Amino acid sequence: MPAEETTPAIVLRARDYSESDRIVTLLTRDCGKLGGIAKGAKSSRRRFERKLEPLTHVTLFFRRRPHGDLVFITRAEAPPAPAPVLDDDLGKIALASYLAELADALTSDAADAADAYRLLARAFDALGRAGASVAARQAFELNLLRVAGFGLEFARCRLCAAAIAAADEAVHFVAARGGVVCARCRGRAPETAVRIAAANALAMAALAAAPLERATAMTDAGADGALALARFLASILDRRLRSAALLDSLM
Ligand SMILES: [Zn+2]
Repeated sequence: MPAEETTPAIVLRARDYSESDRIVTLLTRDCGKLGGIAKGAKSSRRRFERKLEPLTHVTLFFRRRPHGDLVFITRAEAPPAPAPVLDDDLGKIALASYLAELADALTSDAADAADAYRLLARAFDALGRAGASVAARQAFELNLLRVAGFGLEFARCRLCAAAIAAADEAVHFVAARGGVVCARCRGRAPETAVRIAAANALAMAALAAAPLERATAMTDAGADGALALARFLASILDRRLRSAALLDSLM
């Protein structure tokens, strides 16, 4: 029998399977993204003291199977640190659900998901303490994109590298270039663009650089900044995230 392995993990998705089992998808610190089956999850409180519900942080114990994609989840315990409180506020639930779905969409099973795990864990902690806001959403999106390899540039023109200044009236976000171009270079970047007030582009750059814990209290990047992020996400994801609709209706 394969050895039992253990890792901290966050439940991204879960669904019931047969009478008593659950199939879950987890982002783990040490083992990438895993799909697993928890036999008897709905009846065994001893082995699954922490129920395998989405957004739950657990210490996961599992065995790999010689064949098949799903691992056998043998136990799930509470992690050493207290879990963030996410279920006392609809905005927190909506934003956490969206971030879990976004992290799921931006990671593949084989890829090293450790950075995405750490970021999601920090985002949930920050969300539990400071609450949801448009600025927090934008900061989390920018950081999740960065660890997935999509570092977006809002502080400098992608073409001439000139620093964007608050005195500039507006810049143009070009999804295909992963950042903004300045008004002077706009003619050399004919692609469809989202016009963003320079102040909002700078707010976006500040959100990308700041510690996540501070983001909730910071200035958000406005509706044009949100539109730029949405356009970029649509350009790299093959589907619209289901949890985005509820979040958009709240924010
Ligand atoms: Zn330029």
